[in-house]
Amino acid sequence: MPDCRKEFNDEEPREKKYFAVRGLEKEEISDFLAKLKEKSFRGDQVFRWVQAQAVQSWAEMTNLSVDLQEKLASTFSLVPLKLVQEQVSRDGTRKYLWELVDGQRIESVLLFHAGDFTRKRTTLCLSTQVGCPMGCGFCATGKLGFTRNLTVGEIVSQVLDLTALQRHREGLRQEQFKINNLVYMGMGEPLLNLPVVLKSIKLLNYKDGQNIGIRRITISTCGLVPQIDQLAAAGLDFVLAVSLHAPNNELRNRIMPINRQYPLEKLLNACRRYIKQTGQRITFEYVLIKGFNDSLQAAAELAALLRGMKANLNVIPVNTIGGRQYQRPSFEDIQRFVSFLQEKGIAAVLREEKGSDIAGACGQLAGGLE
Ligand code: SF4
Repeated sequence: MPDCRKEFNDEEPREKKYFAVRGLEKEEISDFLAKLKEKSFRGDQVFRWVQAQAVQSWAEMTNLSVDLQEKLASTFSLVPLKLVQEQVSRDGTRKYLWELVDGQRIESVLLFHAGDFTRKRTTLCLSTQVGCPMGCGFCATGKLGFTRNLTVGEIVSQVLDLTALQRHREGLRQEQFKINNLVYMGMGEPLLNLPVVLKSIKLLNYKDGQNIGIRRITISTCGLVPQIDQLAAAGLDFVLAVSLHAPNNELRNRIMPINRQYPLEKLLNACRRYIKQTGQRITFEYVLIKGFNDSLQAAAELAALLRGMKANLNVIPVNTIGGRQYQRPSFEDIQRFVSFLQEKGIAAVLREEKGSDIAGACGQLAGGLE
């Protein structure tokens, strides 16, 4: 039997066996099975079991012989994430704390759309790193520091294991529970783990897998200019979300260390290049902090920065994390800020806040250490 560590240039050494099957494309599985003299359709079957059915073990692949199940099990790993804790918010948002095979912990957040009482429109906020090296001042993940990048299998598993859990719990068939939207906005800076993130998107977008539409996938970044240029060149159709959080360099330097390397002018030029090259609209994120970046003067500076850009702006009142250094503005001040931008022709919306009572909202994920 071939050793697939050599076959696939293993990038997932931490996982139990040789290569995490959840991180493999259909062709990669088929190529390996061809070496075992298995028919090519077996690769399709395995891929569908793994990616569409979200099976938790080889034994669930009931249309494969026990002999083939054993060959697969002796070569690939199929290790679900371990669910350590699940919290449910007053608004129905669910936060999942997962343990990885090396004992590290990450979180994912499942959001249900407002007004959808069937609870069929779902968005999953995914993590891409254990911790984060970017150190944004208002962010609980940033305070953890950086441990390591997630693997493709670990990113995809957040979708698969949650889907399996929900289907099992509610007795639903495959087509009855599905994640509709993905936002790569959980723990970590996705663009620091870019090849892995892109492969996970490819897998989750597969028609024979979870089939999550590419326009329903958002990747966020705190503003890594070279990687934004790389994404523009890749020409993919997902949504890019860029965190601004301040209308000038002086304020942005104080809460986002990345601004010293890529100040606003460089970042916005990269965004313009991205829009020109892809034809896509960018979503900007702006965390609103009382007495810091919530004045009408800040709104005017922000409007000037974004004028003429093909962009949306999400305004997000800051969520408190330990120490309460950053406070939310009053409801009236938030409304005043958003209305001012709208009057200036900026497509600004106040982002609906979800899961803040379980530390599951923007900037609050701390891998269970909150
Ligand atoms: S906001 Fe994002 S990039 Fe900044 S520290 Fe938190 S996880 Fe990292």
